[in-house]
Amino acid sequence: MKIILSVSKKRHSIWKIYYKEYDDYEEKVIFKSKSISRLLVPYYKLQKHHRTLGVCPECNTVFTFFHNWYSKLKNPLCPYCE
Ligand SMILES: [Zn+2]
Repeated sequence: MKIILSVSKKRHSIWKIYYKEYDDYEEKVIFKSKSISRLLVPYYKLQKHHRTLGVCPECNTVFTFFHNWYSKLKNPLCPYCE
């Protein structure tokens, strides 16, 4: 699954997305970018994630997580306790 971090317009009306995605070959999440069609801009803007600080109610650790408009009501998962 792509985690969209930025949708921006480059020169000559080329739109690009910047995102993080799990890479099967590298076997880790890596930062990527690619050009997209103008028609997909609204779609990707809805998908865009914002970086937010969360506090775990279990261990009180402050951590960074990414959310977008439909995931922000859910509690983020603490990376330190499972
Ligand atoms: Zn925790």
